[in-house]
Amino acid sequence: MKLLLPTSTAGSLPKPAWLAQPETLWSPWKLQGDELAEGKRDALLLSLQDQQLAGIDIVSDGEQTRQHFVTTFIEHLSGVDFEKREIVKIRNRYDASVPSVIGEVVRKKPVFVEDAKFLRQQTKQQIKWALPGPMTMIDTLYDGHYKSREKLAWEFAKILNQEAKELEAAGVDIIQFDEPAFNVFFDEVNDWGIAALERAVEGLKCETAVHICYGYGIKANTDWKKTLGTEWRQYEEVFPKLQKSSIDIISLEAQNSRVPMDLIELIRGKKVMVGAIDVATNTIETAEEVADTLRKALQFVDADKLYPSTNCGMTPLSRRVARGKLEALSAGAAIVRNELTA
Ligand SMILES: [Zn+2]
Repeated sequence: MKLLLPTSTAGSLPKPAWLAQPETLWSPWKLQGDELAEGKRDALLLSLQDQQLAGIDIVSDGEQTRQHFVTTFIEHLSGVDFEKREIVKIRNRYDASVPSVIGEVVRKKPVFVEDAKFLRQQTKQQIKWALPGPMTMIDTLYDGHYKSREKLAWEFAKILNQEAKELEAAGVDIIQFDEPAFNVFFDEVNDWGIAALERAVEGLKCETAVHICYGYGIKANTDWKKTLGTEWRQYEEVFPKLQKSSIDIISLEAQNSRVPMDLIELIRGKKVMVGAIDVATNTIETAEEVADTLRKALQFVDADKLYPSTNCGMTPLSRRVARGKLEALSAGAAIVRNELTA
């Protein structure tokens, strides 16, 4: 019988202190060359073990081989100049120095496929792999070539599709696209964002997910959240379109968030990864708190479609806190699983 309420994380997990500066977003690598390559693999194994010891059902690489969820992917493409940096506003929220698109973007070699094969060799559990979504990618770059967000997103969608097909062949069970930009640019989501995402998943036979969140617990995000009022209804704009899309799973944020839970009703029929762990606080949830969030979600999603997860990635947290949160997620899901099967 299929396991009810399979747990997973939204994506990243903390890196060991010997690989990168702990509790720091986008921190540079501490190793170089062959040592870095070996260090990334060792970190992937540790991250996998943390998930397994905590009883997580659908495991990932913890994003141990990437410094940034968008730029590490882009680094592997031609047409982008990392020396030529420009300041842009990310998701209308904060300034960042980003690389420039200077020519046609092309994936000359696979990006994460070898890492995925390595993870596949380590476990028989279901594995999930995260890729940046096309809209979030273009929002993290300066485009001096295509001069059109839509056109560039379309090119990235084609590239993501190539990568996704190879990840699928490597044995990845679920490919997730991170699209926090879907919570900001509603007109573009409507005009071409969903279409670009559909292009990225075209022809895939494995399961597909889209992760839409309110971001890591960094200041720019917490300040932004303060401006959103008492009810966060951003999902209302995109969920009806995603409900009609071919994406199998929607990953969303719920724990300690002001997202009204009933918005999940808008994606009825889809599998829902419900964030039952807050990644913006060091306070570790109790199993009962996690269970409570899952029970609320069950009002709007069928039990066989509920996937307990985290609100977002946990890379900025300490390893101790992240481990505690993984255990809480597992324990909370177990409580509700028992209730459902009792
Ligand atoms: Zn996220």
